[in-house]
Amino acid sequence: MIDKKHLKVFTDIVGKDNIYDDKAHMIAYSYDATRTRFEPDAVIFPRHEQDVQDILKYCNQEQIIITPRGAGSGFTGGALPANGGIILAMEKHMNKILEIDTENMVAVVQPGVLNMDLQKHVEELGLFYPPDPASEEYSTLGGNVSENAGGMRAAKYGITKDYVMALRAVRTNGDIIRAGKRTIKDVAGYNVAGMLIASEGTLAVLTELTLKLIPKPKYKKTYMSVFPSVDNAMNAVFKSLSSGANPVAMEFLDKLVIQALIEKLGVNLPQDAGGVLVGDVDGNVPEEIDFQLQTLEQSFKENGAKEFRIAKDEEEAKELWYARRNASQSITIFGNKKLNEDISVPRSMLPKALEEIYAIGDKYGFKIPCFGHAGDGNIHVNVMIDISQIEEGHKAIEEIFQLVVDMGGTLSGEHGIGTSKAPFMNIAFSNEELQLFRDIKRAFDPNNILNPAKMGLTTVK
Ligand SMILES: Cc1cc2nc3c(=O)[nH]c(=O)nc-3n(C[C@H](O)[C@H](O)[C@H](O)COP(=O)(O)OP(=O)(O)OC[C@H]3O[C@@H](n4cnc5c(N)ncnc54)[C@H](O)[C@@H]3O)c2cc1C
Repeated sequence: MIDKKHLKVFTDIVGKDNIYDDKAHMIAYSYDATRTRFEPDAVIFPRHEQDVQDILKYCNQEQIIITPRGAGSGFTGGALPANGGIILAMEKHMNKILEIDTENMVAVVQPGVLNMDLQKHVEELGLFYPPDPASEEYSTLGGNVSENAGGMRAAKYGITKDYVMALRAVRTNGDIIRAGKRTIKDVAGYNVAGMLIASEGTLAVLTELTLKLIPKPKYKKTYMSVFPSVDNAMNAVFKSLSSGANPVAMEFLDKLVIQALIEKLGVNLPQDAGGVLVGDVDGNVPEEIDFQLQTLEQSFKENGAKEFRIAKDEEEAKELWYARRNASQSITIFGNKKLNEDISVPRSMLPKALEEIYAIGDKYGFKIPCFGHAGDGNIHVNVMIDISQIEEGHKAIEEIFQLVVDMGGTLSGEHGIGTSKAPFMNIAFSNEELQLFRDIKRAFDPNNILNPAKMGLTTVK
């Protein structure tokens, strides 16, 4: 429960219509997509940057913990108030597209704008904002920047960080940070914007984002190919990319996912398929599309592809994408609890990484269906367990993380660390590196009031 004295100050700042402190709302805001629960003491909706400044200054003075929140679609608990305190929610007011500068091709937005709203808005102007997490319809750009979200188009177009040109943020002492510029080149000073990207709301509260746009490609086609084994599929990825293919997406499904899709959803894929690659190619002239598709087909067939399908229209494209889009829900046939990780390794290590991940599954008796972004080396690894096996499940995850780090990979390609991967940070970073993180955190937030329990920097009470 929030102290009445604090509630009065917050009400004076934002008005009574912009604060919740009742039980029903505290429960509603205690979740994100991890389904772990931490209840806040209040949820506050700032109307503008000045409100954010006033709230942070007061909280800093009174040592009240703050958790910034976008849409709460995060997979690692970043938006959950693990130590209580208030949630600062951007969804209600700070959700405006402020400017589209078509000459410099940038968008200026508030952090609560939904990813898809920006995409639709700029596409009407012939422009394109490529980062497209699968949560694009409901996740916010502030959340995307704070997690450095990836998406289906990352293989060709990169991830959120590649589109952040500048930002405004507020430090816990109320100071405004203006980082980056609306210029392609800017080497003056530290790259503070770069530091705030993927900082999971632990350093400052983002209040404005300047995002790079590009011209919208005119043509797009969807392809799908079925392979006898994971190794064939992976070799086809390497071969096609080194032959000059530059697909927008190159998504992978393994044998277990294919089995689940057939059994649960009746998807039309061969029973003996060992791997599937599906994706899009795009370009500004039809010849570019032809070159892309020919290069993919040739490389795929040289690596054992049994078929190479090209969607003839939008409807068939949706059909080809259906399997990938439903991969996550289909694999529940293997267990009632999914421990879903999003490891990333140098692309060339994918076949070896998958082989060893399946071996870890065999050792513990768990199925580990894997799918995801083969084109950028980021795979969703799903340890499927019965809820009673949670302890062994976590041991399997720990072994997977150790393996991935030993291969030069990382704990998370796009979902972040939050609370759920915090216990594993010492696998990926040395004590000295973790100390540097803590020093950076202290420089921004000396009183440790901003999302303190995240990223393994401090422990959850
Ligand atoms: C079905 C589904 C599919 C998904 N697919 C993808 C995918 O393809 N790629 C991907 O990368 N992720 C994916 N995600 C994860 C999630 O959607 C992303 O991490 C997204 O970027 C989170 O945005 P959000 O607005 O929900 O942020 P939240 O979950 O609300 O917050 C995420 C983090 O950002 C911080 N934060 C939010 N706003 C601010 C702000 N203004 N200032 C400072 N910190 C802030 C929070 O404190 C928290 O640490 C998926 C999630 C779901 C449920």
